[in-house]
Amino acid sequence: MSTSGKLAGIRSIEDLAKGPAGDGTGLTGKRVFIRVDFNVPLDKKTAAITDDSRIREAIPTIKFAIEAGAKVILASHLGRPKPGKTEGLSLEPCGSRLSELTGFEVHLPDDCVGDAPKKVIHDLRQNQICLLENLRFHPEEEKDDEVFAKQLAELCDVYVDDAFGAVHRAHASVHALPRLMRDRGGGFLLRKELEALGRLTDRPQKPYIAVLGGAKVSDKIDVVEALLGVVDTLCIGGAMANTFLAATGTSLGASKVEKDKLHLARDVLAKAAARDVPVLLPTDVVVAPAREAEGRAVPFDAIPSDQMALDIGPRTVAAFRERIVRCKTIFWNGPMGLFEKAPFAAGTLGIARAVADATAFSVVGGGDSVAAVQRTGLAARFGHLSTGGGASLEFLEGKKLPGLEALRS
Ligand code: ADP
Ligand code: MG
Repeated sequence: MSTSGKLAGIRSIEDLAKGPAGDGTGLTGKRVFIRVDFNVPLDKKTAAITDDSRIREAIPTIKFAIEAGAKVILASHLGRPKPGKTEGLSLEPCGSRLSELTGFEVHLPDDCVGDAPKKVIHDLRQNQICLLENLRFHPEEEKDDEVFAKQLAELCDVYVDDAFGAVHRAHASVHALPRLMRDRGGGFLLRKELEALGRLTDRPQKPYIAVLGGAKVSDKIDVVEALLGVVDTLCIGGAMANTFLAATGTSLGASKVEKDKLHLARDVLAKAAARDVPVLLPTDVVVAPAREAEGRAVPFDAIPSDQMALDIGPRTVAAFRERIVRCKTIFWNGPMGLFEKAPFAAGTLGIARAVADATAFSVVGGGDSVAAVQRTGLAARFGHLSTGGGASLEFLEGKKLPGLEALRS
């Protein structure tokens, strides 16, 4: 893929296709296991796929392998199945969607290891794909189990990882398995993600702003600390801002506050001050007595005791916007409010507009954040929407990603 940086020592699927003789037959007739990330959001009531970006993003690698004459085996996890329970978490809807999107015939054996997939793979013909059933139906997947990895290895000749959203986990299909495979490498989505995120860590164009929000301070504290070392400005909104406001002595009424995390927020503010990084917190918020109610904007220090802050207010949007549009690099993680409900979506939409209007390289990471941007219809004006939530954050924290390490030779 590349001889330096995050991709050092990792072969690309193109390298694998060249083959040892360099004649382009490296994948021809081979059983190629592609670890994809089909962990798509599903509607709670209907179980329909609500955002198929992850499936669409995997298509270039799948097509390339098919065109190179491979027998393609796809594998993914979906959701968090409880032991022994599979209901509602079959990959069947993902297989149907892939088939609609590509025209390839997708076969889904009812298990990811054993005789059922072996038979399907053996019988694969041109333009047919084998999609293995949810890897997490086997608890061994999350345990990085060697025996389970060997069972997966029996199905294939070549391993390709294109599941960026899973590389931060040491799970069998992304960690134990590739280490058993001589011919292993990364797909096009993996490369695209690493290149885009690499632009945030490797001499980003200044000024660089990070906009953080979402549910919890505790989920994001490590990335906030890491970002403080590189960004010029930090904007904090969403429920996360509640904890920061509370840490500075603001009374938050009935809002969600992580009371046991106030010291972490104070720590971040002190570190930011020491580094001269301005931290913008909301100056106004949209409050309501309940999540089902209508909201109204109030100054941050006038939140009624029986109400919750569920979005950033219009003045805050304007203040964040003013900073955002001046920047050359933008990283955004975490919605600014309870955007799933219309009365509390304006803050997130306002920030999406600001990022779209900026002449900057912009990256959005985080499952809910990306879903929020997709809803605004502005996605095409963003630089990169990461398919990996946790993975993108761990990348920015500078952590070693087990799935990437396992691909290096
Ligand atoms: P991501 O998946 O992008 O990393 P998170 O999972 O951290 O984001 O947070 C997303 C969730 O946070 C959304 O469901 C959103 O409704 C919720 N949220 C954001 N701000 C608030 C708020 N002020 N009050 C309640 N929920 C909020
Ligand atoms: Mg989330």
